[in-house]
Amino acid sequence: METDKYQKHFEELLAKCRSYSSNFDEERIKKAWEFAKIAHHGQKRKSGEDFVYHPLQVAIYLASWGLDETAIVAGLLHDSVEDGGATLEDIRNNFGEDVTLLVDGVTKIRTIELRGSKEEIFVENLRKMLLVMSKDLRVVLIKLADRLHNMQTLWALSKKRQLIKAQETLEIYAPIAERLGIGEVKSALEDLAFKYAFPDEYKNLVQKSLPYYKNADKIIKTIRRKILLRLASEKVTAQVHSRKKHLYSLWKKLSRPEINGDFTKIYDIVALRIITKNIPHCYLALGIVHGLYKPVPNIGVSDFIAQPKPNGYQSIHTKVFGPGGTIVEVQIRTEEMHEQAEHGVAAHWAYSERKSEKVSDEKVERGFKADKDKLRWVTELLSWQKEVIDSKEFLRAVKFDALNHRNFIFSPKGDVYDLPSNATPVDFACAVHTKLLHYIKAAKVNGKVVPLKYKLRSGQVVEIVKSKTPRPPNRDWLDFVVTEAARREIRKFFSRHKV
Ligand code: MN
Repeated sequence: METDKYQKHFEELLAKCRSYSSNFDEERIKKAWEFAKIAHHGQKRKSGEDFVYHPLQVAIYLASWGLDETAIVAGLLHDSVEDGGATLEDIRNNFGEDVTLLVDGVTKIRTIELRGSKEEIFVENLRKMLLVMSKDLRVVLIKLADRLHNMQTLWALSKKRQLIKAQETLEIYAPIAERLGIGEVKSALEDLAFKYAFPDEYKNLVQKSLPYYKNADKIIKTIRRKILLRLASEKVTAQVHSRKKHLYSLWKKLSRPEINGDFTKIYDIVALRIITKNIPHCYLALGIVHGLYKPVPNIGVSDFIAQPKPNGYQSIHTKVFGPGGTIVEVQIRTEEMHEQAEHGVAAHWAYSERKSEKVSDEKVERGFKADKDKLRWVTELLSWQKEVIDSKEFLRAVKFDALNHRNFIFSPKGDVYDLPSNATPVDFACAVHTKLLHYIKAAKVNGKVVPLKYKLRSGQVVEIVKSKTPRPPNRDWLDFVVTEAARREIRKFFSRHKV
């Protein structure tokens, strides 16, 4: 058969699966592969490749994220109904209900074009997509793998389609990957989309950043050697490597007002990453790093191990004075945290699969709990969807709450809240508890009283000074609150008390 030339890639898929699970039914995976080859027989992609190469690559991504057998089978079959010659019935008869539900879910999202359509259609489509997503997270993961491979062959499409796909990727898919904590996929999608969405800026940045990457690389090499030696002499087993900042995230950082294009203010263009076996070793490594290189005052250490980011991210970040006074960022985390940061929700899936093998129940449970937390924003959106009939309102809720840049705001007790850009103390109060919104006497940021329309920034500690008796919200707050939750709570109050 002509498609036997992909046998090597199929073997790669099986090898990947074997590397993390010993109880996959390989015959079933083989059957799905044969099924896909027949369904896509004679079809070509715009890139000139046989079509079936695409679902195979999608399945390989899913396996490299450690997903379960059902997801991998569904990945191989994800286009065989919409693009190929199969029907959902065929899939149900051959692979059962679970796989069928996933393929059907992906097919439903597949036809949803989010960009380039009228706003009402966009909103309706986004609703559909969230609805499908909320039913089974694996649908989203297959969709992300699908998008990741499609972005790699974007060159084959027309300029117009390239732009639409790239914008859609930056506005919808990369933020979803971020919200699910799949850092690796988020960065890959962003960098692939960047050059199509902003071609001039992309070219410009590639040229300009080159000497900075090179210089940082050199410094990192020197300190890496020293740190490795010291870790070894202190008997801390760790991998130490450098990680380059992705171009798109570099571009975003450069355009922040406080940086204003100044490369010398970016300390993590190349960062050193220390990956240890356990948490105590993270702190030992931190001590070793600070013994060799002094931390930079004020901006020095952020301990996201003690205080994880809301998307679950854990690491210690420290900025130190490297050789010649250059500021370098060092990131310290355990292997498990690393896996988590790169693969997020998908990593939980892997843990649950490995349950029978070596992973403790506690860890599996933690994984599932985090899954639920990560999907909370989807379920929240869907519950609003029922109340918010106006599609413009819904769109604003989606765009501003779920997919916007997030800020991490702390309560005086150290609880962390994930709020969108430009959130105010009123938004914060509502995030703590909707009731708190009716008791706001004043707000303090880092100990100082601020106006209620103050725009909060990541890392700030916010305290709501409570009044003893309820204080009605002010209608003017609607002018500055940015979260849908606060907006709704204020509106609800005024619709009940016609004042
Ligand atoms: Mn596809």
